[in-house]
Amino acid sequence: MKKYIFDSIHKELNKKPRILITTHRSPDGDAMGSSLALYQVLVKQGFEVSVVVPNSYPKFLHWLPFNKEVVEYEGNEKNANTRIDSAELIFCLDFNDLGRTDMMSESLQNSTATFVMIDHHQDPSDFADIMFSVPGISSTAQLVYEFIENMGWSSLLTQDIAECIYTGLITDTGSFRFSSVDARTHEIASKLIEVGLKQAHIHQRLFDNNKESRLKLLGYCLSEKLEVLPEYKTAVMSLSQEELDRFHFVKGDTEGFVNYALSIDGVIFTAFFVQNENKVKISFRSLNDFRANLLSKKHFSGGGHINAAGGVHEGSLDEAIQKFKTILPDYKDELSANC
Ligand code: 5GP
Ligand code: MN
Repeated sequence: MKKYIFDSIHKELNKKPRILITTHRSPDGDAMGSSLALYQVLVKQGFEVSVVVPNSYPKFLHWLPFNKEVVEYEGNEKNANTRIDSAELIFCLDFNDLGRTDMMSESLQNSTATFVMIDHHQDPSDFADIMFSVPGISSTAQLVYEFIENMGWSSLLTQDIAECIYTGLITDTGSFRFSSVDARTHEIASKLIEVGLKQAHIHQRLFDNNKESRLKLLGYCLSEKLEVLPEYKTAVMSLSQEELDRFHFVKGDTEGFVNYALSIDGVIFTAFFVQNENKVKISFRSLNDFRANLLSKKHFSGGGHINAAGGVHEGSLDEAIQKFKTILPDYKDELSANC
């Protein structure tokens, strides 16, 4: 770990700044777990800390310790802007470009605070004054753990902090199965268990929380909406607004659906299209070296990791799928090289 990064952060903290923690739009388990873990250690250090996230996040994350401290920017703009404007040090967690904060990005751009990035995405842009960016690492939560240790704060770890970090670790690694997991990821999990983490409880809260309607939506999606394109080792799934409504969709319900298609033998790339008003949100997943993030960046204004990326299409669901199928041949060689 680069010592000068932590020295710079110590220097900023010595000024006793008012702190804000933020993350990307539609926060996931890593975004929320990392933010709330960092929130707790900074509060223990005596700082005044706010957590402001761009918009809402799935209900299955609301059990996280100190969740009630989180302010959602969308719908609470006045309160959120007051916190942003008064912040002197802003921690940006789990994103590599201010644009990923969407509705919050203008307020953040206008801030005169010192920005610290803690993130694991490729190609970080240079908006932050201090960057703890390690692309390829399993999760931002792993980096938050490293941050705590390098700041000399390991003795502050509690079960509540461990639960937040563990949530980030497992939601970003498919429960320790992705290639981004390294020996250190497991070592950190072991240290979290040492401070009282009950890992089975966390898995239950995150994954054994299905509503009947969500499970039926998954069943419908797999039986009716899955299309395999063997010549491209690719599978496509989609859900329209009408289909979502039919299964009483709420935010978070389609989380993880894209991974089911990836489990098909011979499939190494999946795309999942979900209609969202007049836009389509797309999730990409891949195996091995197929760079889903590059395809998403080039064609769907997106980005992400090599094996997990996302993007958007401004237009109809059919158009988005058609566009995807039109560009697939450009990737045939790269897809064929991966098996
Ligand atoms: P998901 O499919 O779970 O929404 O997103 C997977 C990963 O892709 C996220 O962790 C994030 O890194 C990235 N991602 C998702 N949507 C976008 C997007 O619209 N723009 C960019 N740059 N990255 C995205
Ligand atoms: Mn992450």
